[in-house]
Amino acid sequence: MSTFTELGLKEVIQRALTDLGYKSPTEIQKIAIPQIIGSTRDVKAFAQTGTGKTAAFSLPILEQIDLSSKDTQALILSPTRELAVQIGENIREFAKHIKGFNVVTVYGGANAEDQIRKLRRGAHIVVGTPGRTVDLINRRALKPQNLRWLVLDEADEMLNMGFKDELDKILNETPKEKQTLLFSATFPREVDAIARNYMNNPVDIKAGTVNTGSDSVSHEYYMVTERNRYAALKRISDANPEIYGVIFCRTKRETNEISEKLIQDGYSVDAIHGDLSQAQRDNVMQKFKKKSIQLLCATDVAARGIDVKNLTHVINYKLPDQIEAYTHRSGRTGRAGAKGISISIVTRKELNKIRPIEKRISKKFTKKEVPDGVEICKSQLFKMIGKVENVEVNETELSKYTETIFEKLAHMDREELIKRFVSLEFNSFLEYYSKSRDLNEADSGRDSRDSGRSSSNENMTRFFINIGRKDSLDPKSLIGLINDNTQTSGIEIGSIDILDTFSFFEIDKNYEQEALDSIIGADFNGRNVNLEVTKAKRGGGGGGGRGRGGSRGGSSDRGGYRGGSSDRRGGGNRDGGSRDGGGSRRRFSSNSSSSSSSQGRRRTSGGSGFGRKRESKG
Ligand code: AMP
Repeated sequence: MSTFTELGLKEVIQRALTDLGYKSPTEIQKIAIPQIIGSTRDVKAFAQTGTGKTAAFSLPILEQIDLSSKDTQALILSPTRELAVQIGENIREFAKHIKGFNVVTVYGGANAEDQIRKLRRGAHIVVGTPGRTVDLINRRALKPQNLRWLVLDEADEMLNMGFKDELDKILNETPKEKQTLLFSATFPREVDAIARNYMNNPVDIKAGTVNTGSDSVSHEYYMVTERNRYAALKRISDANPEIYGVIFCRTKRETNEISEKLIQDGYSVDAIHGDLSQAQRDNVMQKFKKKSIQLLCATDVAARGIDVKNLTHVINYKLPDQIEAYTHRSGRTGRAGAKGISISIVTRKELNKIRPIEKRISKKFTKKEVPDGVEICKSQLFKMIGKVENVEVNETELSKYTETIFEKLAHMDREELIKRFVSLEFNSFLEYYSKSRDLNEADSGRDSRDSGRSSSNENMTRFFINIGRKDSLDPKSLIGLINDNTQTSGIEIGSIDILDTFSFFEIDKNYEQEALDSIIGADFNGRNVNLEVTKAKRGGGGGGGRGRGGSRGGSSDRGGYRGGSSDRRGGGNRDGGSRDGGGSRRRFSSNSSSSSSSQGRRRTSGGSGFGRKRESKG
């Protein structure tokens, strides 16, 4: 069956699908729609994101809904507010020609009274997040007694997010005779347990290969040092002037940090994560969908509901720990047959995360080189030339000035004119990238992916620190001290030697100055912390003592560093950073709306650590 008519859908529904531009059913729709219309058996469906599963369960329910009754007949549970809202909107669109039909979406973080009022007016279908749904059932605003369908969408994610108790409660409150439709991209034990305990002889349906990414998504990675990660992100987006994508970060803090840095650097970006109010999240999503912003920084959870068409890229600023999360992330692009690219920015240490993903998605990642200045300038120039070619000329208005313009520029030939107009727009960009450094981390060995770890101490700076066991220092608290006081998150930390009254540790040498600037003067259990750069680790335990002596002798070195630090602040050390900082500012300058919306949000980066330390330094 290859048309919606053949699947048995009413004309009013088909008309809505035509309005939406759906020409033929997707694979999961071909299987699920006739199954759910033709049988009351429970359904357990393997379905990935982006396969059209929302329509696969919504359309057969809409087909059978009893409009003469005001009872809630279908309850659709989804893990996040965004996804619930998305499903609600989809259903509203599918049902737009069905007179008297009503769907209500309920989720936490929004006024419950409003939702209760809407439910009281009658809702044939309710879409909800588990927590708010339980709340509304308890308050008797949502009456599950006459449900005919219960849909558990993204069941694995609901369980991952800790909604087991809520699901148990809802499943127990709903009538036994209902048809349960469970959709999940993965079937871990917990999901199987739900199916076993609450479903009655379910029919298994499956479309596409479980857990494999969409065929229309290609997977690429760039290898850089931790220090160059952010600069690489900017180069990648600069080299793709038409980029429209999601940048995935691992934490809310990182999401804020990266989006704010990008905004400062002039990019068209905003952030979405769980700390935002519903209104802020809606606002960000609306801007993104309208393409008022090109890039959206998101956490995995916040991005669950993102169904934005035609995303060109998904960027894994840092790879997630779980492979499932990678599949979900990359599934945001390449939707409904469009092509998409999933990019991962990795350090050498993170390379070992790629192979397991490749195995799971049965696809190879392609290693790409971080683009250099010439490549970026070329792509930006092409974009600009394209704009020149396509710009509409307002002949009437311009004609008032053309004579003067032509007169003024008469002495220049065509070539000279083109060069000058391009330079006007482009000089700062050319200048910015003219001295750009290579950001690629060289592969060492034939397949450095196997090595997994940083291969030598060359990349590390070894520090002497004036606290040790007697100050209750252990590796964990030392790492905490480093993380709390440095501003960059995720600095690579090498070997740690804790001795009685002092210790040694290594960190990525790119952060040597940041460590000196930020850790010296910090407080650790009442002691004023001091750091000195020391020589590379020597063999044997006695090395520590000698190392200390050496570092003491080298304190003039440190003096040198200190003396140098103010210089470095001005440029030296930050040279690379700043070059990959402000220069691309011009790029998305046409769009300033993103920065204003983010300004109200608190910067949650390691700033507080810096503040404290600066105070203590006086
Ligand atoms: P879903 O997996 O439900 O999140 O759907 C992914 C995307 O595919 C959404 O943007 C849908 O609007 C779109 N879509 C779903 N079914 C079809 C179809 N039969 N034809 C074209 N697009 C579809």
